[in-house]
Amino acid sequence: MEVSDRSHVEMLVQIARLLATLDLDDVLWQTIDLTTRTVGAARGTFFLLDEQGETLQRFISAQEYDAETRQIVSRRVLEQGLAGWVMFHGQSALIEDTLTDARWVVLDAEKERERVRSALCVPFFVEGELRGVITLEHPQPNHFTQAHLRLVEAAANQAAASLRNAQLFDRVQGQQRQLQAVLDSVSESLLVLDTLLCVRLANPAALTLIGAQLPDVLGFNLESLAERLGNPFLAQLAQKLTVALQENTNRFEARDERAKRDFVVNVARIDARRAAESGYVVALSDVSSLKDLTRLKTHMIQMASHDLKNPIGVLRNYLDVIYTDVQSGTMPDLLFLENMRKVLERMESLVVNLLNIQRAEEAEPLRREEFNPNDLIAVALEDMLPVFHARQQQLTQNIQPNLRPLKGDFERLREVIKNLLDNASKYTPEGGSIVISAYSEEERFTFSVKDNGYGIPADQQASIFQPYFRAKQAATQHISGTGVGLSLVKEVVERHGGQVWFISKEGQGSTFGFWLPILN
Ligand code: ADP
Repeated sequence: MEVSDRSHVEMLVQIARLLATLDLDDVLWQTIDLTTRTVGAARGTFFLLDEQGETLQRFISAQEYDAETRQIVSRRVLEQGLAGWVMFHGQSALIEDTLTDARWVVLDAEKERERVRSALCVPFFVEGELRGVITLEHPQPNHFTQAHLRLVEAAANQAAASLRNAQLFDRVQGQQRQLQAVLDSVSESLLVLDTLLCVRLANPAALTLIGAQLPDVLGFNLESLAERLGNPFLAQLAQKLTVALQENTNRFEARDERAKRDFVVNVARIDARRAAESGYVVALSDVSSLKDLTRLKTHMIQMASHDLKNPIGVLRNYLDVIYTDVQSGTMPDLLFLENMRKVLERMESLVVNLLNIQRAEEAEPLRREEFNPNDLIAVALEDMLPVFHARQQQLTQNIQPNLRPLKGDFERLREVIKNLLDNASKYTPEGGSIVISAYSEEERFTFSVKDNGYGIPADQQASIFQPYFRAKQAATQHISGTGVGLSLVKEVVERHGGQVWFISKEGQGSTFGFWLPILN
């Protein structure tokens, strides 16, 4: 065997080893490097088209080009040059002298003439599809032989197999990255379980829900995980999932009592050929807000039937009496009319709250008008004075006379103040006292209302601004409400860039307040 033959075989063996290489660029670079060295070429280039064989995917060249030149070079060579010819004909070409062969496109006349006089170009097929070309160049004419050509063709064939491997790997990795991005970004909590309900994968949302890190859950069976983490929701999930799988249903509901959240759980089966890869994808969607809405609806219907129907009955009775009085020429009792007015006011405030809930849900934009906070408080108080009066509650006003003007939604802030005043009156027994304070500083307007009423039990204070939350305590059980007022107060104040706060002691009273920024 001749030396050159041995080096040829050696090169093919080395290229065959590239099969183990999973890096696409590595395969291309090494193929160019090995072929260039083996046939004694000065340099080589590899054009690789994408899998549709349409656009350039890689352009590997021993010569360094900046990005712009690379584009020009690759386009011109592929369209008009030798590489273009080889691509078009799908067969190799050997140029003995670039000066006499029209297929050689001179890109930079000066430099090129010095450097390239002969060239060799072979097509690169992957599974029968033309995917690119390898070009080798030499400064002397007649450098390449037919034997070189066949050798590079053989090298290209071998490299094709490695390229396919690397490409598959590249694709799998790409898909994995895509999958990871999907898993990371979805708001649903996703768990992938094997057939024994052991966790194989959990996305960040699921980990937050479980309250653990990935290494703490991977490989653990849901039930044992629930026990280890002392997580009753996970135990409930494991149990409901087992039932769902037995009954062949793929959807059930679960509720996390501790976090007060409701979930719809969808289960998809993974039927893989290998048992180890079979299992389930469990997706938990948080439907708490929908559930809250349903709860609110039920509550509203109950309230409407109780808190609106009863007063209507009362009004009708009064009306009947007044009607009879008027018919018989008697002057109706003024007290009746006063009582009717009170009943109507309560109904009105219920209806206003209902409308406010709807407005909040539709996230109606805020108005930005300039107004005087003294007017705001006066208007809100006007509505409330009869209520304080009726409940014989003593009112003290510590309101700075010339409050600095505010910019915002007058009507909604009026509802905010009214809600706070209404609560102060509602949650304070008759004869109690209520103190309203308002002042403005350099950049803030502050409002607060203090009562000496029932107060809020300490263990329930954290939830007080949550929609539909109502404190459970014996003293206030008789008071009707929706649990919506304070959440609206918080929402409106925060949308104005301010903050709400409160202090409260059960049996002693509460102070609710907020501040708003004064915008110039
Ligand atoms: P609602 O009064 O319709 O129940 P809110 O959202 O206005 O709803 O208030 C939520 C809960 O906060 C009330 O149910 C009550 O338990 C408590 N709360 C609000 N204001 C006061 C207050 N001034 N004193 C005592 N408890 C209050």
